[in-house]
Amino acid sequence: MKAGIVGLPNVGKSTLFNCLSNAKAQSANFPFCTIEPNIGVVNVPDPRLEKLESLVNPERVVPATVEIVDIAGLVKGASKGEGLGNQFLGNIRETDAILHVLRCFEDDNVVHVDGSVDPIRDKETIDMELQLKDLETVEKKLEKVARVAKTGNKDAQKEQVVLQQLKTGLEAGKSIRAITVSEEDREEFVRPLQLITDKPVLYVCNVDEGSAVDGNAYVEKVKKAVAEENAEVLVLAVGTEADITELDTYEERQMFLDDLGLTEPGSAKLIRSAYSLLNLQTYFTAGEKEVRAWTIPIDATAPQAAGVIHTDFEKGFIRAEVIAYDDYVNYGSEAKVKEAGKMRVEGKEYKVKDGDVMHFRFNV
Ligand code: GDP
Repeated sequence: MKAGIVGLPNVGKSTLFNCLSNAKAQSANFPFCTIEPNIGVVNVPDPRLEKLESLVNPERVVPATVEIVDIAGLVKGASKGEGLGNQFLGNIRETDAILHVLRCFEDDNVVHVDGSVDPIRDKETIDMELQLKDLETVEKKLEKVARVAKTGNKDAQKEQVVLQQLKTGLEAGKSIRAITVSEEDREEFVRPLQLITDKPVLYVCNVDEGSAVDGNAYVEKVKKAVAEENAEVLVLAVGTEADITELDTYEERQMFLDDLGLTEPGSAKLIRSAYSLLNLQTYFTAGEKEVRAWTIPIDATAPQAAGVIHTDFEKGFIRAEVIAYDDYVNYGSEAKVKEAGKMRVEGKEYKVKDGDVMHFRFNV
């Protein structure tokens, strides 16, 4: 999974990126890397993985990961080539979800590009750039399709109607996700365009330290403004979170969080929200060599889950041996679970549940 961080300059994007991809914040025995300065691979925090590790004692533990891309340089006019925006807009297209950071903190030392703190105006500025970029894509496609439609091609005519609808919506300042298109048409004509404003979005309200728990008036405004979008709003004190990740030990970080009245780092909350935004869940494999978390869609079947490990596993899928996470922990080992008759054998139709510990049997 890949998520792109967008927002105006100086709203806290890089701070958030650094804090998410800070090696110190990641458990020491987990592999971690930053691919490029603006791309990081973030481990998905999951206490269940640590629990399984303590039970199995594997050689290594591999958490699920999310790739985060810091998309800097989005400013007014980016879609028209202002700043570095246009170049970065291309990067957003490759992401699965968007984390839209909004400045909801006041600080005279941090300059706002438009002179005052106003998350709603900021959001509209960014949305407009993204919509204009999408409009460009839609118009290009529409031109091609219209030529074919003219020849009497029924499919092209159908597509033309949908594209025209998208164009009208975008021109009226709507994001693609807010335009009503039938599921069928969306699948056939809209999805392949990989439009930026069609991607699920999570609004991250960057607040001052004192508002980390309850938010503030700016956050309330944002919540109201996005109510119709069916999007999630997350309150994060990004600057404070960054300070926390600088602390050396887990205990120190936990104490800082306690002081603030938080139960977990915002990065954990953020990644969890991104998971639910994308309808993702986790299953585990647990052997002596490796205990590992895998990411799958919520409605994935057992063969699809196997396919995440290797496509051959999916093709040759025979059956899955499944232990519910709670059973694994309650009985303490795979052997004991088996003894108790709690290991299930599931077939091709099985819908994997969050936390399942699985073995796959397959033909090669
Ligand atoms: P970007 O341009 O969106 O990547 O913004 P940066 O992450 O570089 O942040 C811009 C400035 O705002 C930096 O000086 C940060 O230290 C500061 N900043 C970021 N988040 C916060 C915050 O939550 N509170 C305050 N007061 N300052 C912040």
